[in-house]
Amino acid sequence: MTPLPPKLSPAERAAANSAAIAARQVRAAAKKSLGNGEISIFDLINSVDPAIRKMRVRELLESVPGVGKLRAEAIMERAKISPTRRIAGLGTNQVSALRGELSVSKIDPARGTLIVMSGPGGVGKSTITRTLRNDPRFWISVSATTRDPREGERDGIDYYFYNDSKFDQSIADGSFLEWAEFAGARYGTPHAPIESWLALGKNVLLEIEIEGARQVRKSDPNALLVFIAPPSWDELKARLTGRGTDSPERQAARLALAEQEMAAAGEFDHVLVNDSVERVIEELVSLAT
Ligand code: ADP
Ligand code: 5GP
Repeated sequence: MTPLPPKLSPAERAAANSAAIAARQVRAAAKKSLGNGEISIFDLINSVDPAIRKMRVRELLESVPGVGKLRAEAIMERAKISPTRRIAGLGTNQVSALRGELSVSKIDPARGTLIVMSGPGGVGKSTITRTLRNDPRFWISVSATTRDPREGERDGIDYYFYNDSKFDQSIADGSFLEWAEFAGARYGTPHAPIESWLALGKNVLLEIEIEGARQVRKSDPNALLVFIAPPSWDELKARLTGRGTDSPERQAARLALAEQEMAAAGEFDHVLVNDSVERVIEELVSLAT
């Protein structure tokens, strides 16, 4: 049987309520002082106040200036602290791991570079992106799209699959860094994670079509625009047709589109010829650093 909560008299209930309010105020004040740099997280870790000792490590870390959600998550993972751990439950090894992490993270890692990669369909962009997914120097942006998932594509990994109204809402909210229509569907880059990853020192790669690249150029002049070109027109044709999934009409339409896309190469900062995926990646790394 579930135990019943203790029956409180009105006076006891009032006292409990005011204790809860006081604890909330203490916690809010602690986070505020942490946020404006008046105290350090270690002052709170050493606190004997029960209200503070009940606070979650994650909540406090996120309030440390310059840390934020993503970095807090990464720090906790490296310090082997579970996401729900409270201050009272921290072990001495975890506290010293935190000290190490925070003294390192005071030295701001060099900011990453925002790289926008475009190029004609079939040139090898997805192949390059797929390879870079396993490279710790890069974070690959996940776009939202209104097109249907293809076989094997997973929501949140390959794309965020939105319906039209969710896409409209994201445009209205200003959630996209850029968005464009392509082949009858809409595609957009969610803005929020980009700044966090750049601040963490990751190079952020957007694989988007040309109209979107133009928009990023306008909104962020520091972005590096890279155009992936085929070794030759014949090789592009061979790669497009080699995928073997399109009808002859669709292939002709893709080639016509590729011709238009090739004409935009001059607007980009760099043109990399994809004769070898490894070499393109080496060049991307050296451009980013
Ligand atoms: P995109 O994403 O630009 O449309 P894909 O990555 O789908 O292009 O590549 C199109 C085809 O070209 C695929 O079959 C891929 O394996 C092949 N490909 C990609 N890069 C190279 C390369 N450097 N050499 C030969 N074939 C390549
Ligand atoms: P696909 O449907 O084949 O995955 O992608 C079609 C095109 O949309 C590709 O050229 C791809 O680079 C582009 N694309 C993917 N995501 C985005 C995005 O967020 N914004 C823009 N502008 N284009 C995108």
